[in-house]
Amino acid sequence: MVEYINECVDCKSIGLRCIGSTCPNRNVKHILCDKCGAEDTIYQYESEQLCIDCITEMLEEVE
Ligand SMILES: [Zn+2]
Ligand SMILES: [Zn+2]
Repeated sequence: MVEYINECVDCKSIGLRCIGSTCPNRNVKHILCDKCGAEDTIYQYESEQLCIDCITEMLEEVE
């Protein structure tokens, strides 16, 4: 799944000038595993986006 997470909170504290609604840190795209929600390297597996652990698990179930 794709989630947009607002990471703007630390803009000022790390010395960046926050530009409000267009701040690049406000909508940071994160791709998360559909099954466990892990933010790892995500692979398209059939109709799902999964991390390697969940893909391995699914493949083991088949065998
Ligand atoms: Zn900001
Ligand atoms: Zn997973």
